[in-house]
Amino acid sequence: MLTVVTRPVRVRAPAKVNLHLAVGDLRPDGYHDLTTVFHALSLVDDVSVVSAPTISVTVRGEDAAAVPLDGSNLAWRAAVMVAEASGRAPGVAITIDKGIPVAGGMAGGSADAAATLIALDELWGLGLSRAEIMKYAARLGSDVPFSVAGGTAVGTGRGEKLLPVLSRNTFHWVLALSKEGLSTPAVYRELDRLRERGTPPRAGDPDELMQALASGDPTRVGPLLTNDLQAAALSLRPDLRRTLRAGLDAGAIAGIVSGSGPTCAFLCASADDAVEVGAELSGAGVCRTVRVASGPVPGARVTRDERGR
Ligand code: ATP
Repeated sequence: MLTVVTRPVRVRAPAKVNLHLAVGDLRPDGYHDLTTVFHALSLVDDVSVVSAPTISVTVRGEDAAAVPLDGSNLAWRAAVMVAEASGRAPGVAITIDKGIPVAGGMAGGSADAAATLIALDELWGLGLSRAEIMKYAARLGSDVPFSVAGGTAVGTGRGEKLLPVLSRNTFHWVLALSKEGLSTPAVYRELDRLRERGTPPRAGDPDELMQALASGDPTRVGPLLTNDLQAAALSLRPDLRRTLRAGLDAGAIAGIVSGSGPTCAFLCASADDAVEVGAELSGAGVCRTVRVASGPVPGARVTRDERGR
């Protein structure tokens, strides 16, 4: 028998970096076909959901002021979607502890949507299948299914059709967070503009990268990191070139703009190297703040407190 939970349900959801992001030409419907390799990182949002008279969203953390607290918040939208589908009122108070940079190219909003889906399934005892959760996730946004799945996965379509990738080992990353966010649609528009005027580099297929991931060797993975949106992000934010250069100078194996940016992600040879690269990068004055993370980590999942409740 399914039970309805009255205490808060807490769900942790990861940020993503795209290890490979090949963007197709603009389609007549305004979207782009993607072939991407997502990788979930230990930079997380913690989302807590509890029954309440009406729906609300509260956000805590450094970037909280940049997050909408109304119906445009992806977590709110997820709650309304599940409530409507299950014939309930969306009476929940959602609290987001934001560790993922906002508008940083790391799918922070998608992580919150994924976390809310998983939390409501438990809170309301819905017993949703994985397929049903993925269906809601894909309706909420193209990165949301991966925020549910986690790990390392190839995404096609708009990024929502996923297949897991075999990846041996834990990879160590340094993330350089930027002072200001970048709008994902603006970065895509800039890529379309650059392509009208010339031939910015295009990622091929990710086969070689998949072999490198299976080998678990970061020195093989590093040179294969590629992102078609990087040229567009650098065109809008030329200062990111300095950030990328500083990470390499600090000893990273490779650096790449994460998704639509402006966060820059640096792959390092070991956990110790990542700490060193992070320390040097934070002293270089080329970003707002630095985070050390590792991947792959699981997708959105319920977390229990120390007493196992
Ligand atoms: P992506 O890489 O998935 O395109 P992103 O990581 O660059 O997105 P997000 O942090 O998801 O960017 O936020 C993009 C915009 O979405 C923000 O500027 C904000 O206005 C809006 N937004 C809606 N819900 C959320 C949320 N829960 N957390 C953060 N931003 C949200």
